[in-house]
Amino acid sequence: MSEILLHTCCGPCTTYVNKWLCENGFDVKGYFYNPNIRPQAEYERRLLTMEHYAAAVGLKVAYEINDVQLIPKDCQNCYQVRLEKTAQFAKQQGIELFTTTLLISPYQNHVLIKDVGEKIAQDYGISFLYQDFSTGYSQSRQMSQAMKLFRQNYCGCTPRTSIKLVRGGKYVKVN
Ligand code: SF4
Repeated sequence: MSEILLHTCCGPCTTYVNKWLCENGFDVKGYFYNPNIRPQAEYERRLLTMEHYAAAVGLKVAYEINDVQLIPKDCQNCYQVRLEKTAQFAKQQGIELFTTTLLISPYQNHVLIKDVGEKIAQDYGISFLYQDFSTGYSQSRQMSQAMKLFRQNYCGCTPRTSIKLVRGGKYVKVN
């Protein structure tokens, strides 16, 4: 069974990816490192949700300290920083393969993640697993709903302001 370090961005995105990896014969260890999440209250909500999910399914997760401040909307650097730290940790732990739950999102730039992940892997002498997990995106939504996991409505750096107005007795969302 190949050991794999899974960079996890949040509990809901981990549901399907962890399931897929386990079903495909991987021995999964999680690694939570997301200095991109703002504001702090949102970071804490996602962290707690991750801990809740991991405890429920028995996934071992290492939680990394946030040691950098990332510039919002600089996705390339955001991928680079998070995946490089994951590769460093994998190397320290003697794990030769890593991947990320970011690949479940159809809204992320898969070509860029693959490119960044593979270059980092080469630098560290390990391998990056690219898999298009976005085919399981709706399943991950169902799985998180079934587990009552908190599910955010933005990637990490730019919270949406959502104001509710009452029009004709109905609530309307304004972003
Ligand atoms: S949109 Fe997401 S991936 Fe891009 S910089 Fe913000 S948090 Fe990082």
